[in-house]
Amino acid sequence: MNVSFLGLGAIGAPMARHLATPPFALTVWNRTAERARRFVESHPAARTVDSPADAVRGAAIVVTCLPSSREVAALLDAGVRDALAPGALLVDCTSGDPATSRRIAAELAARGVAFLDAPVSGGVVGAEKGTLTVMVGGDAAVLERARPVLGAFGEKIVHCGDVGAGDALKALNNALLAIHVWTTAEALATLEKAGVRADVALDVINTSSGRSNASMNLFPDRVLTRAFPRTFRLALLDKDIGIAADVAREQRVPTPVIQLTAELFRLAHAALGEEADHVEATRLIEDWSGVTIGGAPARPASPPPPPPSEATAMLEQDL
Ligand code: NDP
Repeated sequence: MNVSFLGLGAIGAPMARHLATPPFALTVWNRTAERARRFVESHPAARTVDSPADAVRGAAIVVTCLPSSREVAALLDAGVRDALAPGALLVDCTSGDPATSRRIAAELAARGVAFLDAPVSGGVVGAEKGTLTVMVGGDAAVLERARPVLGAFGEKIVHCGDVGAGDALKALNNALLAIHVWTTAEALATLEKAGVRADVALDVINTSSGRSNASMNLFPDRVLTRAFPRTFRLALLDKDIGIAADVAREQRVPTPVIQLTAELFRLAHAALGEEADHVEATRLIEDWSGVTIGGAPARPASPPPPPPSEATAMLEQDL
């Protein structure tokens, strides 16, 4: 089966690796060509081409894994839409936004091309192991066509509803991730200041009702060690919780915590930059409180953050 994969980023590359052997004949494309060249060097059965349009020509299934739906739409406008053959299927594994996915699906349907939004969860390690969870929006029969490709890197493949349903679920899942990271950092900074070491606090929290993936895995492995590995950019989590906040407003569900956390992650993204990892949002709370979670000496606190004016305004609007 001819498969194309566009976007060999932190998670895209390890996903594409599972498609680089028969029965798949894989063509990859990446904006920075050097990354695609290195991919093909280590996966000789795959090939790369110069343009995204050339990459999708003749493909039965095209997988995209880009930062947001905006980049997916831009690639379609840059020749990919015209190069897709009628009968082809575009599977968008980007954590996208439901409205753009619905628009893309309608445009492609008019040309006889099927579309699924199929964002993934499980991180870079899950992508490497081929154990990702894939949340799929679109026609159930189309999902069956995509299943061999999704099954190459995904272990749990869930049909969530119509086009956009996968994006919505992914965004709300990541809103929970953002909230857990933020509130775990707040709790641990407070406890450090109250004289309870973070390792002691986590030992208790992780056998108590306040535990989460953040407290059980992210903080012990990444914050207490001060390793902060860069696996999932803060910029992407900012985008995801922004989508979640938009979906909640569209649905007219009052969501003060999601709206406020979206604003806090926008602030963290602006302060820490494009390359920071999502768990590094913790650094803001450390700066504000003058504490290093994990016990390094206390530092003078920096000025408090600006008030969450936008979130408050949104909340008033919702209510
Ligand atoms: P990265 O930032 O590591 O990679 C982004 C990819 O998109 C790169 O291949 C990059 O190319 C390409 N790209 C960026 N801008 C453009 C553009 N304007 N036109 C064409 N290509 C572009 O992101 P990830 O791989 O981490 O994430 C990809 C998607 O998967 C995101 O939606 C993310 O939210 C989601 N995701 C990520 C997870 C993770 O753990 N990393 C977990 C679950 C979901 P270039 O090499 O040139 O920069």
